[in-house]
This record gives sequence, structure tokens and C-alpha cells, in this order.
Amino acid sequence: MINRKGGQKKKDFPDLAGLLFPRRCPVCQEVVEERNGRVCRICRIKLPYISGPVCLKCGKPLHLEEREYCQDCMKKRRWSDCGGAPFLYDKIMRNSIAGFKYAGRREYAAFYAEEIYARCGREIKHWGGEVLVPIPLHSSRKKKRGFNQAELLAKELSKRVDIPMDTGLLRRVKKTHTQKELNDQERLTNLKDAFSVRKGKIPRKNIILVDDIYTTGSTIDSAARVLKEHGAQNVYFVCICVGSGN
Ligand SMILES: [Zn+2]
Ligand SMILES: [Zn+2]
Repeated sequence: MINRKGGQKKKDFPDLAGLLFPRRCPVCQEVVEERNGRVCRICRIKLPYISGPVCLKCGKPLHLEEREYCQDCMKKRRWSDCGGAPFLYDKIMRNSIAGFKYAGRREYAAFYAEEIYARCGREIKHWGGEVLVPIPLHSSRKKKRGFNQAELLAKELSKRVDIPMDTGLLRRVKKTHTQKELNDQERLTNLKDAFSVRKGKIPRKNIILVDDIYTTGSTIDSAARVLKEHGAQNVYFVCICVGSGN
């Protein structure tokens, strides 16, 4: 199920498509006035880009510049090698991602992928990932939502970084509770054995996981762990946003 460049490129009819399906701004959710723009000019300056020193493991902003890792990454064993995101998970991004996930604004995936590529493209090249693996949803949740947001994102990113996407490797076997209501320890227990590698599949050596948000890192770690237990050597990740760190 490896999908080179995230599928065949469709022919573009920008004017017609633009008239029928005007692009919505991922910040204010209004129609974008700027031709070919993905975000309004005014909203663009509100985007919470991460700047300054970041944790070398998880990409969260560091409050103490002299450190290399955030407190979480110093305390916990990380199964993922390293990763990052262009944005901080603040109120603006929370609303934006809610629009993407729950209000069916699938076109935001292209915007997020462009931003990930612009901000993390160099690192992605440097990692030498052979495949992009979106964090899977449990089949019942995917059925309810109609799509997997991480998969849409990985598909868009795949076109830009020229790394194939593989949706057939990982499976979410455990129906987990929504993470946001749980504390750190509960999140770990919740996600323990949440993923499995599909029967007969052998993971590539270098894998890049793709997800929407990275907060405690338990989802990424849980997926990275099962991949490494099945032979992957390096597991990296990219997300749209990371939590604020410590
Ligand atoms: Zn806007
Ligand atoms: Zn960290």
C-alpha cells in the first residue's frame, strides 16, 4: 500500500475549483481572499511559529537556553529519535485543528504540510527517512470521522518531500480514550499496546511518523516502540504543532 508521492497528481483547474470550493483560512475559517493563498494576510502574522532554541528530541521550545533537552525528554525514555513541528499548540492552532478534524476542513492539510516542509524540510532530508507513516486511527473512529487527519497530512507532505507514504504498516489495535482528559501516567497506560505492525510487514530502517499534535509524546513513543521492536532502527516524527515544553 505504499503510495509514491501520495497518489497520482490530479489535473489542476484552479479557477473552477476556486469558485466551487473556495479555500478557507485555517485561522479564521473565512474564505481566503488572496489568490492562491492558503491563509489570510492578517491571519498569517498571528500564526504561532516556534522560534528560538528547541529540545533536540521533541522540538518543543526550551525555556532554559543552555539545555539541550526539555525536562520531559530528560526524564522519560523516548522511543522516537527526534522530531519537530512548525507551530506551537496554542489557542489559534487548537481552533484550526478542530476545524480540520471535526468540521471537515480537509484542505487545511495542504497548508499544514507546506508549513512543515518550509520549517522542517531540511531536517526531514537529513534524517533520510524511507517512508512516512501516519499515526493510524482505530477503525471505528476513522469510520465515525470519515477520514484520518494524520493520513491526509502525510499524503500532502509526501508530495513535497518526495518520500512515499505507507498506510499499511501500522494498525491501531486498541480503542483508546481521548488523551486530553488523562494525566501523563494514564496516557501511557492508555496507549500501551495501542499499535501493532500488520502481519507479514517488516518496517523500513528509517521511518518518519506523521501526526497532528505532539504534547506528552506518548502516542508517538508508543508507535515508535512497536516499530523498533519489529526492526526499525530510527523513528523520527513530524507534527503540525508541539506543546509548549518545560
Ligand atoms: Zn484568516
Ligand atoms: Zn523534549
